[in-house]
Amino acid sequence: MTSARTGFPMHVSVQEARDMLAALLPDPGTGTVPLAQARGRTLAADLAARVSHPSATESALDGIAAQEADTLTATAAAPVRLRVVGESRAGVPFTGQVGPGECVRIYTGAPLPTGADAICPVEQLTEDGPGAVLLARPASPADVRQEGGDFRAGEVVLRAGQPLTPPRVALAAALGHAEVPVRRRLRVALLSTGDEVIEPGRPLLPGQVYDSNRYGLHAMLEDCGCEVLSLGHAPDSPEALQDALAGAGGADVLLTSGGVSMGKYDFMRDLLLERGRVAFWKVRMRPGGPALLGGWNGLPVFGLPGNPVSSLVVFHVIVRPALMGQPVQTLRLRAATPFRGLPDKTAFWRGLLRDGEVHDYGKQGSGVLRSLSDANALVVVPEGGAVQAGEDVDVLLL
Ligand code: AMP
Ligand code: MG
Repeated sequence: MTSARTGFPMHVSVQEARDMLAALLPDPGTGTVPLAQARGRTLAADLAARVSHPSATESALDGIAAQEADTLTATAAAPVRLRVVGESRAGVPFTGQVGPGECVRIYTGAPLPTGADAICPVEQLTEDGPGAVLLARPASPADVRQEGGDFRAGEVVLRAGQPLTPPRVALAAALGHAEVPVRRRLRVALLSTGDEVIEPGRPLLPGQVYDSNRYGLHAMLEDCGCEVLSLGHAPDSPEALQDALAGAGGADVLLTSGGVSMGKYDFMRDLLLERGRVAFWKVRMRPGGPALLGGWNGLPVFGLPGNPVSSLVVFHVIVRPALMGQPVQTLRLRAATPFRGLPDKTAFWRGLLRDGEVHDYGKQGSGVLRSLSDANALVVVPEGGAVQAGEDVDVLLL
């Protein structure tokens, strides 16, 4: 729907909101960072393995390496005797040959010696005089790690666009890369608004509320690899807002909290209409309906609602995927409780995952910030839909 008076789209869908924001974001370009600074960044190019892992066929445990044929008949009642001819440990391989009836003591990560093709764990051995062991059980193929079993030299293992989670940082190191190509961080200016909103730590006067949004959003922005330029907090007046927005120079996008609703003291939309641009106002979702997208001095501006839950949910559902250039990842899970639907809005109810099912968290008010801390999922009920207990539902992890 487009507002007849003002000409900008109103009541856009969640997907439209995401796409419109993503379309306004500048291409951040790319750079290179050392691995120790790579966490949370987005890979800008495919990464190929420079080596194979494991680099040689090796033992997965401590025990002995032998010829498999020699181990096959071993049982506790009729153990097999093998002669120990040497040792292979991680970094110091055995250089000789293992023949029939022979074995080498071997430790986790040590290369399998020439001639040996099987490992028996130390728990299945007993000493049988000097230089000999008795096997109580045959070797298991699972105890040998094949060369290149994890990845082979030259193989593309990580892909451009993947966020560098801690396991992927470890993987990049194992591939042999000391530094990695990453997307440059988007620089996000962050402003909270509201006459009643004050800095945590100060005494709270009647009617005031601590600024939880700016701290929550700051943390979420860092979590998705952005650089945050904090503009602090502005009171509810067009002049104060303008002054605050002037500090956003040098940022790629401006994120505000509060002041985008219908109230007399909600100035963001009118300010953008008069002196900037409005791309849309209101998204068909709950919580978080009154979100706003626009432009100010050539800078994209996303206005989040002030209600703490709305603010963080809209960030999670719309802003985060757009900033990260990633589609939203949902799981399909069984609903243990019913979830109500709304005729013309997508609902994102807070849920609790338990035993592979999702339960209604209960208090769904958009001011109940504690619910976001306790809940671990957002249950997506599409416009006009409703979910009965026992049905499958899309779930976003928090
Ligand atoms: P608004 O969207 O500005 O009308 O604010 C809606 C509700 O959210 C009001 O109850 C505000 O007090 C509250 N609120 C607004 N901004 C913040 C903030 N930064 N931190 C916590 N609560 C806020
Ligand atoms: Mg306000």
